[in-house]
Amino acid sequence: MTLQVYGPRARQFVTLLTEYSGLTLLLGGNETVTVSANGLINPFESETLQSLTWNVIRSPNLVRIAAFSSAPVRGFFADWFHANPGVHRPRRSVFVSDITRVAGMSAILARAVMGHILQEYFGAARPPGQQPGRAFSHYHVPAIRTEAQIAGDLTGRPIWTGNQRPWEGSFGRTNVRSYGPNLKFQLVLGGLGRLVRVIEPDGI
Ligand SMILES: [Zn+2]
Repeated sequence: MTLQVYGPRARQFVTLLTEYSGLTLLLGGNETVTVSANGLINPFESETLQSLTWNVIRSPNLVRIAAFSSAPVRGFFADWFHANPGVHRPRRSVFVSDITRVAGMSAILARAVMGHILQEYFGAARPPGQQPGRAFSHYHVPAIRTEAQIAGDLTGRPIWTGNQRPWEGSFGRTNVRSYGPNLKFQLVLGGLGRLVRVIEPDGI
């Protein structure tokens, strides 16, 4: 039972994770998240995100998330893996307003982003008392595959396999996330770095 969430938006983060994972999650007074013993499971949410959330909660390794509304600097971030002491943000800071902004434009992409964050932190997680992993790219790359699986679950569309792997990259102000042959999402940022639009795949 080692998913811990703290900070000013801890409750809102757990509410979002409850909605997106389809599990009924509880945030205890000790900052620890558990799955409600008699909770319902929403079968229409992503199985990948469901099992990832279960695995994090059951793991002996600690995932400890600080939940804030938004980053104290301009832009769109969703989360910061590393600490940013200059603006007083600890490692694993998640910005709930960025995630809900995505959700307002694409419910599927918001779930993929949530899965990315959890997978990345889970990859770096270590037992309580030990320093978590610091090699960001080592955890970031598998998290893109998790994103793709979540989008695949929710759309029924195939994801890249074999030599072609799910990828993400930024081109000017557009961040492209390619999960499969017909499963590409684009986040379009405005002049101030704010997320202004999500372009979903055709027919979603
Ligand atoms: Zn990442």
